[in-house]
Amino acid sequence: MILLDSVTKIYPGDHKPALDSVSLHIEPNEFVFLVGKSGAGKSTLMKMITKEEIPDSGKIIIGGIDLDYVKKRHIPGYRRRLGVVFQDFKLLPRRTVYENVAFALEIAGMSGKEIRKTVPKVLELVDLSDQAKKFPRQLSGGQQQRVSIARSVARQPKILIADEPTANLDKLTTEEIIQLLKKINDFGTTILVTTHNEGIVNTLQKRVVTMKDGKIVADQKNGGIYKLDETPQPKLPKHLIQTPGHALKNKPKRIIQ
Ligand code: ADP
Repeated sequence: MILLDSVTKIYPGDHKPALDSVSLHIEPNEFVFLVGKSGAGKSTLMKMITKEEIPDSGKIIIGGIDLDYVKKRHIPGYRRRLGVVFQDFKLLPRRTVYENVAFALEIAGMSGKEIRKTVPKVLELVDLSDQAKKFPRQLSGGQQQRVSIARSVARQPKILIADEPTANLDKLTTEEIIQLLKKINDFGTTILVTTHNEGIVNTLQKRVVTMKDGKIVADQKNGGIYKLDETPQPKLPKHLIQTPGHALKNKPKRIIQ
C-alpha cells in the first residue's frame, strides 16, 4: 500500500541527507506510528508520500501509483486520493463544520446529492453531528481536529497520513483523536501517523517505525513500543532471567478456574 525503496533526499544547501536510503513497506490496513527525534526525517518521509518533496533517488509507490509518473498537474488529484491530517487542522475559517467537509467533496467532484448524503454520515463518524453549523473558531482544538479528520476521510481514502495530529492537543483530547484514527483503521484504512507522544504509542501497541539521522533504525512489526534508537533494551541481571522450567514452576494460578 505504501512502498519506499532506497529513498534518499538531500535538501538543497544541506550536506547530510534528510532521508538516507530509506526502505519501508506498509501493507493494506496496517496502523503504523513513525517516531524519532526532531530532525530524524519523519516529515520528509511524509512529504515524499504526498509528493510535496521529490526524492533524489529511490522509488515510491503509493496505493499502486508510481510517483515518478505523477506529473505536476496531476499532483492535486493524486493528493485527494490520500487522506492527509495536519497538526494545525487547516480548516477554512469562514465555513461551517458542514461546509468544510462538503467543500472537500465538492472539489473532489462529488455531486450535490451525494454530498448531502455523505456529510451527515461522516460527521456522525467523528461525533460532531450536533456541531455542524458552527464555525471552526467556535470549536475546541480536539473538535477542530475531528473536523479535519472528517474532511480527509469523507472521500473514503485507502490511506490516511497524519503528521503530528495531536501535537496541539491535551492528553484527553489526544486519546480521543487516536481512538478515532483507530476506528477509521478498523474500517480498513491504512494509517501512518508521526508522533512524539510516548503514551499513545505504548497504549496502542501497533507497528512502530523509528527514524534516526534519516534512516530507519528500528521497525517493530507488532506490539511496538516508543523508542528513539536502535539500542537494545538493557539486559536483565542474570538472576532475574528464568529458565523455562523455573518459569513453569512459578506459573501464576488462573484467576478464573
Ligand atoms: P522530523 O520531521 O523528524 O523533525 P525533518 O524531515 O523535518 O525531520 O528533517 C530532516 C532533516 O532535513 C533535518 O536535518 C532538517 O533540518 C532538514 N530539512 C527539513 N526540511 C528542510 C528544508 N525545507 N530545507 C532544508 N533542510 C530541511
